[in-house]
Amino acid sequence: MILILLGAPGSGKGTVSRLISEVRNIPCISTGEMLRKTEDSPQEAIDLLKKGELLPDSIINQMLLNRIQKDDCQNGFILDGYPRNLEQAKCLDEMLSSINRSVTKALNLEGPTEVIYRRILSRKECVSCRATFSADTPEKVENVCDKCGAELKIRSDDNKESLDRRLEVFNKNTAPIAEYYKEKGVLKSIDSSKGPDTALEQALAE
Ligand code: AMP
Repeated sequence: MILILLGAPGSGKGTVSRLISEVRNIPCISTGEMLRKTEDSPQEAIDLLKKGELLPDSIINQMLLNRIQKDDCQNGFILDGYPRNLEQAKCLDEMLSSINRSVTKALNLEGPTEVIYRRILSRKECVSCRATFSADTPEKVENVCDKCGAELKIRSDDNKESLDRRLEVFNKNTAPIAEYYKEKGVLKSIDSSKGPDTALEQALAE
């Protein structure tokens, strides 16, 4: 099973992909997380990330190709944050067809923009397990992860300026790829405004 999570920043892709990963026992791969974790990312990449701009396709495609060739991806995987444009979507298809595989479903998480702003501008992320907390779903003890007890931090791109830009980039580059998957007959819309459990249920329904 190869699942893609589409949706604006803050639509809940990370949370839903982690839930699916637990239920289906396949890894979730977040290109954004991989970039944030790579300590030797060049300064230009870190700057682009902070500003909410996309990194060059050549870097991201290679990074993804290396990741999906690992053993834990044999039974499938979930992609969160990739593809981000049509070129990446086509590149993914080529990577998959070379190993006789294809995208099972592209889940498009949709929800109102006000919810996105509220979520992202109050979001804190666990430095260890990546669980996220925000105004509507706060942590029990300030800055401590409910799930694993590690520290919570605000992402360097979770500010108004960067979010405005990320939404612009999303609408221009990423939103149109839903049509690409619709034409392939694998697109499924998910209402992300009703919370992660409802989104999970919709995602897993046949
Ligand atoms: P995310 O964690 O998915 O919100 O991604 C955070 C940032 O990482 C994005 O705003 C981009 O700067 C970069 N990034 C993540 N995934 C990609 C991708 N597939 N293509 C280009 N840039 C990406």
